Amino acid sequence: GRGLAVRDLVVHYRDDDGTTATAVDGLSLEVEPGEVLGLLGPSGSGKSSLLRAVAGLEPASSGSITWDGADLAGVPVHRRGFGLMFQDGQLFPHRDVAANVAFGLEMAGEPRARRRERVTELLELVGLGGFADRAVSTLSGGERQRVALARSLAPRPRLLLLDEPLSALDRALRERLAAEVREALTTTGTTAVFVTHDHDEAFAVADRIAVMDLGHLLQVARPVDLWHRP
Ligand code: ADP
Ligand code: ADP
Repeated sequence: GRGLAVRDLVVHYRDDDGTTATAVDGLSLEVEPGEVLGLLGPSGSGKSSLLRAVAGLEPASSGSITWDGADLAGVPVHRRGFGLMFQDGQLFPHRDVAANVAFGLEMAGEPRARRRERVTELLELVGLGGFADRAVSTLSGGERQRVALARSLAPRPRLLLLDEPLSALDRALRERLAAEVREALTTTGTTAVFVTHDHDEAFAVADRIAVMDLGHLLQVARPVDLWHRP
């Protein structure tokens, strides 16, 4: 199959005293190319552990993770061709907006003229045209997350993994940014997994929603077909 396939994935953590906690408990899931999957569930349900395992930040205890059928076991984070975005966008505070967005392009060895062009295009996409030379320290929280989104999209990742990217923002801003994130992902045709504990956010962003609890998937459905427990 094309895209991402997670099969019977188990992620557990071992404590100092030797006991283990199972964060992801035999989970299977697919994400098709071009699709935005919302991963929805309460705190502690294993969303972040699943995402980190897909990213290569956390080893799988068992099961497999493949992209276009190729097993990712042992493939390091920077070789997976995936992008990452977190709640705290982790921008470089001493570099300006353009340099932050250009970071992945510099790593990939893109020539300077192409970097400039791509940075300009991405800043327009996230509504920050004219912000290229701004210092990161002068930006609002929402602007920072827009820069982080532009930065993660710039190298055209084959899969973008977003872990609660809006959770640090207030509700009104979250609603606006959720719509903007969806727009940016669909405009660029980016395949993505968007982790959130916020029901409305998942509905606003995702083509399909996977509902997680206690390390398991309860349901995977299009937002319009999603049934929810009272
Ligand atoms: P979510 O992202 O849905 O909040 P997590 O994947 O962060 O869920 O956590 C799932 C479970 O794994 C929780 O019980 C959590 O306490 C546990 N867990 C997460 N990270 C660690 C860790 N580094 N060490 C031990 N237990 C962890
Ligand atoms: P450099 O000397 O490599 O251009 P800068 O810190 O000036 O270093 O820029 C960092 C990155 O941001 C570069 O990849 C550059 O192409 C890009 N960049 C700089 N200024 C702009 C701008 N005004 N618009 C778009 N991209 C820019």
